[in-house]
Amino acid sequence: MRPIQMVDTKTQYHKIKLQVDNAIQDVMESSAFINGKAVQDFASHLSSYQGAKHTIPCANGTDALQIAMMALGLQPGDEVITPSFTYIATTEVIALLRLTPVFAEVDARTFCIDPASLESLITPNTKAIVPVHLYGHAAPMQEIMAIAGKHNLFVIEDNAQAIGCDYQFSDGSKKKTGTIGHIGTTSFYPSKNLGAFGDGGAIFTNNDELADKIRMIANHGQSKRYYHDVVGCNSRLDTVQAAILDIKLNHLDEYIEARRNAADFYDRSFAGNKKLRIPFRAGYSNHVFHQYTLIVDAADDPGIYRDGLNQFLATHKIPSMLYYPVPGHKQKMFEHFNVAAQLMPVTDWLTQRVISLPMHTELDEEQLRFITDKVNEYTGK
Ligand SMILES: *Cc1c(COP(=O)(O)O)cnc(C)c1O
Repeated sequence: MRPIQMVDTKTQYHKIKLQVDNAIQDVMESSAFINGKAVQDFASHLSSYQGAKHTIPCANGTDALQIAMMALGLQPGDEVITPSFTYIATTEVIALLRLTPVFAEVDARTFCIDPASLESLITPNTKAIVPVHLYGHAAPMQEIMAIAGKHNLFVIEDNAQAIGCDYQFSDGSKKKTGTIGHIGTTSFYPSKNLGAFGDGGAIFTNNDELADKIRMIANHGQSKRYYHDVVGCNSRLDTVQAAILDIKLNHLDEYIEARRNAADFYDRSFAGNKKLRIPFRAGYSNHVFHQYTLIVDAADDPGIYRDGLNQFLATHKIPSMLYYPVPGHKQKMFEHFNVAAQLMPVTDWLTQRVISLPMHTELDEEQLRFITDKVNEYTGK
């Protein structure tokens, strides 16, 4: 059996090696390392794929969130509602800009913001909501947009884990996640569903004025060369990364399909296992499985039982991960916001029970069978 990895970007690369190597070579020969032709080509292809009017590439997914918040003109002290149960990048940039993170509870099925928790968190200082499409499952955007509209709030979708995901509204119309809110952001970190060979990110919007602001902020606040109208930053996608991503974008749908096939195998193997809850798939969306995350819900001491599974798998050379062991409201960096005492029962409940299994485009049946056998062995199916 091939060794099992959490993510296998190497095997994936070997399948498109010739194309990718040629594209890299072309960039080297052109020497247009910054803002070369591939950057605009990729942005335009990604706009078409997403159905977004504007795609602005940038250096990484964290910058994308920061630039989005700057473009909306959020000011120190403004409150931004976001889940506590997410990767730190989402919440960190809020604090970095001296905005105030306000943590919302998640739905234990979707792992995403629970719209029912939103309205009680809205104050006169609330300016924006940042839903996260966690693990590749879409947040309930229709409800979130309705609440945001009622209270005149901006919505920034953190789509770092869900590129390619379709969202269906109750009238049957569809949009890609990342294009539903006022701004969407994504990351091309190598392990993401559309991964570069280094860092990268992008920002989506359908609003022309916001697109201009975003472009300006990502480029030193510059309106024309050496004229700087606002304080910005330097956040660019390297040409070589854009050239690689432009090739991988052609394969994104098949990559998502491969992830779904692995998820289907996992689901079938864990059916009937009373100690495991397989990932929920809401009817309004199609899961793109950035992660395959189980809820281990069995023991009196769930954290210890779940950690035991994590260690048991490791002894059989099966990697597994706990995304994320400490939720936002318990992070030291947010202590001064007095969030530690905040009641987040669902988030705390999930933090004790989630475990993510290997998930990527290159898992074969032998590996999947070995992984599921070992998980079922530990949990006594
Ligand atoms: C990966 C990720 C980010 C940050 O992206 P980087 O490119 O690593 O800066 C932000 N939010 C979420 C939910 C992520 O998973």
